Amino acid sequence: MRFGGKVALQGINLTIEAGSFVVLLGPSGGGKTTLLNILGGFLDPTEGRVFIDGRDVTRMPPAKRPTTTVFQDYALFPHMSIAANVAFGLKMRRVAKDQQRIRTERALDMVGLGHTAARRIHELSGGQRQRIALARALVVEPSVLLLDEPLGALDLKLRRQMQEELKLIQKRVGTTFVHVTHDQEEAMAIGDVIVVMNDGFIEDIGSPERVYLQPSSRFTANFMGDNNLIEGSITDAAGERIHVETTFGGFSLTGKADKGAKVALSLRPEHLHPDAAGERAKIGTAKVVESGFFGTHHQCMAKLDGSDNTVKLRLPQKQMIRPGEALTLYADPADMVLLTR
Ligand code: ATP
Repeated sequence: MRFGGKVALQGINLTIEAGSFVVLLGPSGGGKTTLLNILGGFLDPTEGRVFIDGRDVTRMPPAKRPTTTVFQDYALFPHMSIAANVAFGLKMRRVAKDQQRIRTERALDMVGLGHTAARRIHELSGGQRQRIALARALVVEPSVLLLDEPLGALDLKLRRQMQEELKLIQKRVGTTFVHVTHDQEEAMAIGDVIVVMNDGFIEDIGSPERVYLQPSSRFTANFMGDNNLIEGSITDAAGERIHVETTFGGFSLTGKADKGAKVALSLRPEHLHPDAAGERAKIGTAKVVESGFFGTHHQCMAKLDGSDNTVKLRLPQKQMIRPGEALTLYADPADMVLLTR
């Protein structure tokens, strides 16, 4: 997809399984909204095709597509009642009046707002407006619901609550949801599949667990939460067994890369430990330079002795740790993910 000379999307090849909750995740400018707008028919792609339920919809206008979109600002009609807002799409599709009433009631009940039918939009809170926008989009029973940062305007607590509700509603109705966000926690909380987008490319596609625990690139490893990226090179490779020399020392692990290749090891903060156990290898001694309490855990930065390397680690809630404390750090090589790009 090009905007004048600017390439906004490149080499996109994405198949979405019907009934799944797919999240397009990435930094600002990555191309998420552009892709969503192509799916919804609000943008004509300069190249490529879009198929929904086996039908080529590439040149079909938005209203004719089996898709509806929930926008970040909800785009509700302030002069209409809530019931009229929800029924709007049915009216446009000339659905019989009694059916409009039944389906509108059902959609409002589904989002828990059946009692608000006669009210106006300005009488509702942000979270309730968000639910009305969802009811309005779902009432026409689209094959695919497109959501463009629908929770972006909500405060954090409400946002987390709406994430749970969205996921429950999606499972209940069984409609395919394609949801845009730049919040990786939100993506993991709600997605069956996460599509990581960066600079117009798809960087990674997979389940939240796969994308977080086995990221396929440096970009995904860093974007999906906190991470220690340890640069190194392969000094020995025999089948699936490799040896990596890094600035943190040498590690033998399972993986595939050519001898001499420049690689990185991704190690999540929760996989660095201040004690030896099981198969853990010693990383080195370190001094805590910064620590913070996050409720569920402590997170600290520690500087490895005799080097300029600092690492992030996450410690259990009850394990108090203060700047200046000395630690010996260990990690299980099985928790280190080999990154070749
Ligand atoms: P955000 O989270 O900020 O919305 P995004 O991942 O959704 O980011 P897009 O809005 O899809 O990214 O933008 C992708 C790229 O295309 C950006 O570089 C953007 O500046 C450019 N772009 C998007 N829409 C247009 C347009 N109508 N005209 C020109 N350039 C555009």
